[in-house]
Amino acid sequence: MRPRSDSTDGSPDRGPHSRAARDGRAVGAARPSGTNGASAGWARWTRVGAAVLDLVLPEDCAGCGRQGTVCCADCLAVFDQPELVARGAETHALTRHRGTARTLVVEHKERRRRGLTRPLGDALAAAVPHLPTGRPDPAGTWWLVPVPSRPGAARQRGGPHLLGLARRCAASMQAVGMPVAVAPALRLSAGAKDAVGLDRAGRAANLSGRLHVRPEACPPRGTPVVLLDDVVTTGATLSACRATLAAAGIPTSAALTLTSA
Ligand SMILES: [Zn+2]
Repeated sequence: MRPRSDSTDGSPDRGPHSRAARDGRAVGAARPSGTNGASAGWARWTRVGAAVLDLVLPEDCAGCGRQGTVCCADCLAVFDQPELVARGAETHALTRHRGTARTLVVEHKERRRRGLTRPLGDALAAAVPHLPTGRPDPAGTWWLVPVPSRPGAARQRGGPHLLGLARRCAASMQAVGMPVAVAPALRLSAGAKDAVGLDRAGRAANLSGRLHVRPEACPPRGTPVVLLDDVVTTGATLSACRATLAAAGIPTSAALTLTSA
């Protein structure tokens, strides 16, 4: 088992030439204060500005700033084979949450670089079939369940980023002939706080009573699923997801994350 810390989130350690740095300069990390309506309007326009920049500026690597692609092959190579990080809970991560891997995850999640959904989703897809306990249903279909985001965080981040990752992961697996279904079977109700800085017990308490199944999005009872998250820190979130799914009759065969903090 790897040592862990709770330093999951924070400012990304990105290079001076990265798009993130450019976005910060061009479309306003300095958001003006004002009414909620004005803030919402500003947020909308910064999103429009970022989209326009994406069209007119060449893409550069979110990890190292190299021009020409959203994530260069060297940076993507930090995501390795799945490695067990929490014995007993069968959670695997592709690498540690530091350096380039951390930068890519944070840029995707916190800075809305959704161009990273494709390479990060592909990295997960390459690993899913190799999870020692992961398995498809009896018909051969893999079921992927993304860990849900807090409703407020999802709004701030421009949508549930893990659902996008799961969908890209599924598309990548389907492209090589594997039947896959994405089941956004879990939701977090309002009231859950940002988990950054909370220990395992604090995270469990934060989720208690706020994590629910979405019956309309669940696979049939008894279907084994693979849980997907971007970062595992204390493992409390994944444990709560497993327990909530189990209570609905859905076993989690494995959990997979990009990084382990
Ligand atoms: Zn790079």
